[in-house]
Amino acid sequence: MVTAIVGANWGDEGKGKITDMIAEKSDIVVRFQGGSNAGHTIINDYGRFALHLLPSGVFYNHITSVIGNGVAFNVPKFVEELKAITDQNVPMPHIIVSDRAQLLMPYHIDLDSYEEERLAGKSFGSTKSGIAPFYSDKYAKIGFQVCELFGDENDLMDKVKNVCTLKNVLLEHLYHKPTLNPDEVFATLMEYKEAIAPYVADTSTFLNNALKEGKKVLLEGQLGSLKDPDHGIYPMVTSSSTLAAFGCIGAGVPASELKDVVTVVKAYSSAVGGGEFVSEIFGDEADELRKRGGDKGEFGATTGRPRRVGWFDAVASRYGVRAQGTTQVVLTVLDVLGYLDQVPMCVGYEIDGKVVKDFPTTPMLKKAKPVFKLMPGWKCDIRGIKEYDQLPIECRNYIDAIEEELGVPVTMVSNGPKRHDIIIRKPEAEKFFK
Ligand code: GDP
Repeated sequence: MVTAIVGANWGDEGKGKITDMIAEKSDIVVRFQGGSNAGHTIINDYGRFALHLLPSGVFYNHITSVIGNGVAFNVPKFVEELKAITDQNVPMPHIIVSDRAQLLMPYHIDLDSYEEERLAGKSFGSTKSGIAPFYSDKYAKIGFQVCELFGDENDLMDKVKNVCTLKNVLLEHLYHKPTLNPDEVFATLMEYKEAIAPYVADTSTFLNNALKEGKKVLLEGQLGSLKDPDHGIYPMVTSSSTLAAFGCIGAGVPASELKDVVTVVKAYSSAVGGGEFVSEIFGDEADELRKRGGDKGEFGATTGRPRRVGWFDAVASRYGVRAQGTTQVVLTVLDVLGYLDQVPMCVGYEIDGKVVKDFPTTPMLKKAKPVFKLMPGWKCDIRGIKEYDQLPIECRNYIDAIEEELGVPVTMVSNGPKRHDIIIRKPEAEKFFK
């Protein structure tokens, strides 16, 4: 059985925590897209960790973690992150890397930075991790699959020379930066080969066999629906699909095996980088929420950048939940809102004098103004509560209102950053704990 854990919003909804939690009763956790450009924060018995590339199952000995074919595989970051967790006494995880995953090269990172520099004020707010140049090369068919490192070296060198010829035109004439030397690029590839050889596997065959044996597989998404290149706020999106449907492609499992899509929705909104964000708030109101948000304030796990914050956006979240094909919602960081007298919720967008409820395309979003409704706050700390009916009535009313807006059952509520800070609200969620 395959379950996807994905985000409905701009990312940072708390997918890492939910994956880590559900992984306890799973067998395999797979990363299927993106690279080390975003982070998942996980707090467990070993400490507090910001994972960027490793799947959030690496803390359990019974789990096999998989870097799927859809990932932008940054070898130095992989090595660094494995060292960082084992240095903090986490046992060496069982991890395998798809032989069809492609390598994120140092020149992807350089080109990302040079392009941001060239665009200056008009940039896409890239994390400069090389993700856009990586996926551009993948689809232009000039990327390097992991398996090519283990193939014919002359063929590999021919390809390296071709890539250098193409890249050097840009480097020399557009960016006026140092050019690539094919021998050096080849040497880097050989270093990567040595570093990853113990982990490389035919992960798709591994996963398909595991499914035949009845194993439980989790697909862990990065970012959220609104950052999807097709369905998100293009062009302020990421470069690989963040949707559960893509999970099957990026992991190499049959679509018919995907039985549950657990979509993580945040009780307020946050976003890193630029792009349309209708329910965004500013000034003191934003500073207060940012300071109280997440487990240590709303600051990027990869970049440390202050995240933009806003109130729960029912229009964007309903769309995000729909785009994921959600079967269940986990509502996270609800505890953070306990300081408010009244909790605002964005229930519509006013565009050209009309209130719309369906999430529009980017040109329309630019004109949208939030329509807020205010709900009574619960004015207390709900951390530590384990039973749903012990939540204050105002808090339950807020959850009911969100569920009604989303049109999909909210089966779990997360009321703290730790692994077991979770309240089961509906029986559909119980299977994840058996
Ligand atoms: P991800 O990318 O979706 O995994 O999310 P991040 O880890 O980047 O951001 C979520 C943040 O919220 C992290 O700081 C988590 O520790 C924290 N977090 C997750 N769930 C909860 C919760 O229910 N309450 C609180 N206060 N923090 C939470």
